[in-house]
Amino acid sequence: MVESQNRTETELAIDAQDVHVTYADGTTAVRGATLQVERGEFFGFLGPNGAGKTTSIKTLATLLHPTDGSVRINGYDTVSEPQAVRESIGYMAQETSIDRELSPRENLRLTCELYGVPESEREGRIEELLELVGLGDVADTRSEKFSGGMKKRLDAATVLVHQPPVVFLDEPTTGLDPEARLRLWEYFERINDQGTTVFLTTQYLEEADQLCDRLSLLQDGQVIATGRPEELKSDVGVDVIDLTLADADENKHRAKQLLQRLDAVEGATVATTTAGVTVRSPAVRGAANEVFGALDDAGITVESFDIHSPTLDDVFLALTDDSTEESPTTGMASLGTEVTQ
Ligand code: ADP
Repeated sequence: MVESQNRTETELAIDAQDVHVTYADGTTAVRGATLQVERGEFFGFLGPNGAGKTTSIKTLATLLHPTDGSVRINGYDTVSEPQAVRESIGYMAQETSIDRELSPRENLRLTCELYGVPESEREGRIEELLELVGLGDVADTRSEKFSGGMKKRLDAATVLVHQPPVVFLDEPTTGLDPEARLRLWEYFERINDQGTTVFLTTQYLEEADQLCDRLSLLQDGQVIATGRPEELKSDVGVDVIDLTLADADENKHRAKQLLQRLDAVEGATVATTTAGVTVRSPAVRGAANEVFGALDDAGITVESFDIHSPTLDDVFLALTDDSTEESPTTGMASLGTEVTQ
């Protein structure tokens, strides 16, 4: 989980050192982010809304300048060599940038022209990309009436026409239905399998867990942890019991105090949630009866409970303020909750 300090810059697709970004109005959106991504990695930047993901990805993609610190992409400095960086990356913004009046094939031709893809290579590459994102059947249909997922896939294809070794994807699946999201995941995995380094921002825990080789957790403009999803989860070193309490608002603080003093889960971290309390402890599975008993003795009714291994949400919770009272506890989104296109 600790970054190697011995890697040379040229081995790295992304090398960001102590990056700060402050907007003109004085808002500091990124406060000292350091990250190194190796070539070929699928790297995630996971954090709730407002954590600084878009600001970070725009800074990596040369669209914003760091106020302090430095960024090198494929060995090039984003401030002194922005053109070289831009030629070696693809950047997919949150808003799709396709021309809706044009068909997928026409959109891709236009992008090939913009990037100066040699004419002799264009048609072959366009066919390949249409196939890759599954839009071969509608290659010559105006994209105006496409679903949100199809537009996103076309946008993702345009990002690849110049065969960049690194692609930046800014919350590419936000607002998509589960099926559209799955198709995009397949596509991202395929380009990564073909050797492209992928840097993805997301507020979906499951998305980061499923796709990323490694990820950084971002909170208030700071990287609070970096590692493989399974490492981050096992570092929490605990099991988790989430308790839904009757009259939660009234009882949860009392329940928290009570459980913090309970010998059976000594050393446990107890936090309140919207519905009650969550207890994280290496011993919690074996101590569930004591937990229920202690609450019962205090006249606090447990309406339901869930005992599980830690999720990335629990990792966040373990690393951030224990008194957070949102659900999910970190304020991040769960897949399947949004079904808008
Ligand atoms: P995320 O992508 O994780 O939702 P952002 O990078 O969009 O986070 O935002 C991080 C912080 O920077 C937020 O507090 C946001 O309000 C602020 N911010 C974003 N864009 C601007 C801007 N153009 N000017 C000033 N503040 C901004």
